[in-house]
Amino acid sequence: MLTKTAKVKLQDGTRVRHKVIGYEGLIEGTTGVKACFTDVGELLKYRDSKQTFQYRVFIKGESMRRIAPDDDLEILELAEEVICPQCRLSFRTKPDVANKPGGRCTCGGWICPFCVYCQDRSGQSPCPNQRKRLIRKLAPRKMAEQSVETGG
Ligand SMILES: [Zn+2]
Ligand SMILES: [Zn+2]
Repeated sequence: MLTKTAKVKLQDGTRVRHKVIGYEGLIEGTTGVKACFTDVGELLKYRDSKQTFQYRVFIKGESMRRIAPDDDLEILELAEEVICPQCRLSFRTKPDVANKPGGRCTCGGWICPFCVYCQDRSGQSPCPNQRKRLIRKLAPRKMAEQSVETGG
């Protein structure tokens, strides 16, 4: 299934860890600026590299993006296209986002941005968070009123 090419294979949002330095972050596109290229955590000395691009890695709290080649990055969690079992629309998952559309629900399922269902892996009763999201989606005004009443 997987073919080894020089194409971009890590999608934006994929959570990675640098194998040598150990930082963890999220893929945020690529760069073709060879002056920024790194190899095992250090700036590449010889720029006659055959690599045409390296990945930009966004790390929380850092204003600069780290640059690293594919080989130095370990994939912790892949951002990928999944198909919602409820509405059958496909969407891109966001590993680093919790309890928001595209991200992970606390039950472990991905939250569909279209119908807000989280994937029910077990086949048991629907996730309670899913119900809350549905209510919020269908009746935003009512929810707002409620939060005023409770002082939230
Ligand atoms: Zn859906
Ligand atoms: Zn859930």
